[in-house]
Amino acid sequence: MNLILLGPPGAGKGTQASMLVQERDMIQLSTGDMLRAAKESGSEMGKIVADVMARGDLVTDEIVIGLIREKLEGDKKGGFIFDGFPRTLAQADALGALLAEKGETLDAVIELQVNDDVLVERILNRAKEAAAAGQPVRADDNEESLKIRLMEYYKKTSPLIGYYYAKGDLKSVDGLGEIDTVKADISAALDG
Ligand code: AMP
Repeated sequence: MNLILLGPPGAGKGTQASMLVQERDMIQLSTGDMLRAAKESGSEMGKIVADVMARGDLVTDEIVIGLIREKLEGDKKGGFIFDGFPRTLAQADALGALLAEKGETLDAVIELQVNDDVLVERILNRAKEAAAAGQPVRADDNEESLKIRLMEYYKKTSPLIGYYYAKGDLKSVDGLGEIDTVKADISAALDG
């Protein structure tokens, strides 16, 4: 089974993806993690994306589609979870084409619904907790970048909700509950 986790920053996509990895032996493909790893490694691409990411803007479709294309060549185990990808209609089209080339299908798109006040609170708390624990704070977990990340989401990513609804793939889940409740709702949406 291949699925997309869709939702604004702070909706819990990463948390839920790692649980699906454990429970269903799936492969998590987070373009955000891949880009942060590129930045850490100091590669040319990492240097190009670092400032864009810190500001909260989206990196180019070409870069992220390239990253995903590469990962689709690897082991798929229980299937792929696309986390933070696609974020634009062009990425969504490219994903459809890449999966079709591999003879794969997209089986579900789970939209995690949350309200914006909760998002801002969650993300700023995540930054505070990391800082207090002496852990690295994401360069884009600050109020200014967060505003841009939310704006990018509404302008470029939220149209995907309509796109996948029209395709018949969309399942919406309330992302505001406890982690285990959200997890159970996702399972019900996938298996029900
Ligand atoms: P995330 O970890 O998913 O919140 O992503 C962190 C940042 O990486 C985003 O704010 C973007 O700058 C960049 N990014 C991650 N995934 C994508 C994508 N699919 N398209 C464009 N930019 C992305």
